[in-house]
Amino acid sequence: MKCQKCGVPLKGLRAMICKHVFGVKRSEKHPHLCNKCEPKACAKPAAKKKKKGKR
Ligand SMILES: [Zn+2]
Repeated sequence: MKCQKCGVPLKGLRAMICKHVFGVKRSEKHPHLCNKCEPKACAKPAAKKKKKGKR
């Protein structure tokens, strides 16, 4: 079983290695994709941070 986008192994020993080395694992919502290729609909990255008053 591999990720359909990037082809990383999602199951087995190689998947464990990838998980430890690259932090890539199988997506829970999208079992045919890894967590890096899954569509991120609900996860909103904090792109803009407002910092004030640090001078
Ligand atoms: Zn992938």
